[in-house]
Amino acid sequence: MAIKTLDALVVGAGVAGLYQLYQLRERGYSVQCVDAAPGIGGTWYWNCYPGARLDSPSYTYQYWFSDELLNEWEWSERFPAQPEIKRYLEFVANKFDLHKDIQLSTRIQSAQWQNDQQHWLITSETGEQWQVKYFISCVGMLSAPNTPNFANQELYQGRILHTARWPQEGIDLQGKRVGVVGVGATGIQVIQTLADQVGQLFVLQRTPQYAVKMRNTKLGPEDHAYWQSQYPTMRHDLHHTFGGFEWDVPEAGVALAMTKEQRMAILEDCWQDGSLKMWVGTYPEILADPELNEEASEFVREKIAARINDPILREKIVPRSYGFGTYRVPLETHYYDAFNRDNVHLVDVKSTPIEAFYEQGLIIGGAPLALDVIVFATGFDAGTGALSKMDVHGIDNQSLTELWHKDIRSTYGLQVHGFPNLFTVAGPLAPATAFCNMTTCLQQQVDWITQAIDFLRDQGKSSMEPSAELEESWVQHHDEVANMTLMMQTNSWYTGANIEGKPKRLLSYIGGVGTYRQLCDELVANKYSGFNIH
Ligand code: NAP
Repeated sequence: MAIKTLDALVVGAGVAGLYQLYQLRERGYSVQCVDAAPGIGGTWYWNCYPGARLDSPSYTYQYWFSDELLNEWEWSERFPAQPEIKRYLEFVANKFDLHKDIQLSTRIQSAQWQNDQQHWLITSETGEQWQVKYFISCVGMLSAPNTPNFANQELYQGRILHTARWPQEGIDLQGKRVGVVGVGATGIQVIQTLADQVGQLFVLQRTPQYAVKMRNTKLGPEDHAYWQSQYPTMRHDLHHTFGGFEWDVPEAGVALAMTKEQRMAILEDCWQDGSLKMWVGTYPEILADPELNEEASEFVREKIAARINDPILREKIVPRSYGFGTYRVPLETHYYDAFNRDNVHLVDVKSTPIEAFYEQGLIIGGAPLALDVIVFATGFDAGTGALSKMDVHGIDNQSLTELWHKDIRSTYGLQVHGFPNLFTVAGPLAPATAFCNMTTCLQQQVDWITQAIDFLRDQGKSSMEPSAELEESWVQHHDEVANMTLMMQTNSWYTGANIEGKPKRLLSYIGGVGTYRQLCDELVANKYSGFNIH
């Protein structure tokens, strides 16, 4: 097979990959985008499980590069369901004729930096090869599914599904005994959706969540007119807030000077918004000060408790072992109400862990639980998982997988020392690893990468790579900010704790979207000082 020579290969055709392809093509680079999936959309292709829904407001979750696009697309809901977001991405791909440069059903297996030639040699599973100057990973931070390895799976005669590999054609679960393992943001969406669709639903919960009631609304012509009038300022303002949403947080310290009643009023106000504002829009101390975190945790516990009729169930479902917001906060609409149904059963797999499969289901705490279908809503090897699965080798044949197996490092989540011209959108140690409204962060990173590539072209240079010193200073800053919060005290995918043997570090930069953007802009203003440029 002939090797294809291009300026850039973009791996991943989700929100980031489509935009990166567009930006590079617009600037005259030869570029192709590949994706392992048979369709575009990334996360929004794979996660077609029942109830999959956006939890950023739709009008903040879009591309900002085209006025025409902003005017043409109208969202039907504040928090639309997965099919609508997939349709949006298809609409964008068709409008900007992106499909002609996208090759689907193509999984990259390896990438080797060839220092003499200053290019990457990238190889797919079927042996297809690309020789490119720039290898741009847009593989997503939550795209390598994590499935627990319970013994005797081969015995089980029912169906096993992972939410991130749900059959595109759907599956009829009517009348079935279904077990859902996991109550993260995904499990919650699945459980509240399946409760009245299946025969018996068993919720296999290890750690309960602080889910916030979502206030979803249909959007009509008046809403569209309103949001369109906001777009010119929003496209700028979103990039300067803490979370990449249309609202910001008050300054640090303000909440400490308030009375408890005043803080409660803020919490209630944000609760009524029915969005992630409750998580990242109240006041910064909620994620940093143990007492104020406990105050907010108690506020949310009371909201949850009021929804569950059975006092014994209530005790199990109201979280107490960690603080509100230190684990990604899910939104729900009727998750808690589902437990008031006769066909929904909570199984506490913390006190009685899942031990193994058997022919008809799972053995839990020594007892069999018969299940026709087992749904794993067990999350992902986040941040590093998808790229680590590729065999990526940089200078001196250094393996990225081995590096990240020992220590998860990056420079601003955009590049890694020792891997020239590898750019990582939503790589670890950036807000885009999931501490932001994703489209805001992804577009900012794509813009930064595009600008860096333009810089190399304009300067007649062939490669850039962060120095060890620059990387170390970013990692230190990242850790310093992380350690000022309570996030590291809670085990979750945020710290890599959900994957056995994964080095512990907060995967997302938590200094805020606006601050991060400013720091990235300073790298450009300083003409990439700290990068080795050849
Ligand atoms: P997750 O937050 O990692 O949750 C995984 C769940 O599986 C947890 O409840 C975990 O329990 C449980 N689990 C894992 N292994 C288990 C085992 N061996 N036995 C029993 N339980 C086990 O994954 P997720 O729910 O897929 O969410 C990941 C992220 O995706 C979210 O945080 C969010 O950022 C994103 N997401 C976004 C949306 C949206 O925008 N609408 C929707 C879904 C997901 P423990 O907590 O005890 O480990």
